[in-house]
Amino acid sequence: MTTICVFCGSSMGNNPAYQQAAKATAGFFVKHNIRLVYGGAKVGLMKILADTMLENNREVIGVMPRLLIEKEVAHQGLTQMIQVGSMAERKLKMVEMSDGFIALPGGLGTFDELSEVLIYNQLRIMDKPVGILNTAGYFDKMLAFFDHAVKEGFVRSEHRYNLLVSDDIDTLFQLMHQYNPVSMGKWLEEIKTEAGEK
Ligand code: AMP
Repeated sequence: MTTICVFCGSSMGNNPAYQQAAKATAGFFVKHNIRLVYGGAKVGLMKILADTMLENNREVIGVMPRLLIEKEVAHQGLTQMIQVGSMAERKLKMVEMSDGFIALPGGLGTFDELSEVLIYNQLRIMDKPVGILNTAGYFDKMLAFFDHAVKEGFVRSEHRYNLLVSDDIDTLFQLMHQYNPVSMGKWLEEIKTEAGEK
């Protein structure tokens, strides 16, 4: 994996551990010579991540809809800024360019991007690892809800457990290296049977 896309907050969050997590992620990328793809902003954890990479002369590629660039949150010092027409196009571009995805703590934008890549894997539109860096247990309640969704029969456990989770970036990366896509045949058959189709 040489190019990783990171989704993370456009805010800093209230716990200094979140900024440390963004720095640690960038530090790991620097050490392993990994190229960063991200949302392209100069705010929040995104700024910490991009700046730490750039200070260490690593490649950072921003992907940003023109609408956001016009709002003056674009980072001016990136290796490359790719302008796209919409939020949907941005996610497609990120998926095309990246070998794997990591979500750091963030808000609705981060949740949206995370859901998008999870469903791409579920439908085998791509077969790329998706990890959560669960700093200070930030995602615990989301993961508990995913478990609830499995229990209630709306998310399959194999999809739930294909979302890789650790609070340590080295461990998360090891898990991502071992990623195994879930085959579609079995669950498609099961949901058809459930619906009464032969
Ligand atoms: P949020 O988690 O709601 O702060 O949104 C951050 C995520 O959504 C990032 O991974 C970005 O790709 C995207 N995003 C949301 N707001 C912005 C912004 N102001 N500038 C750039 N990207 C943003």
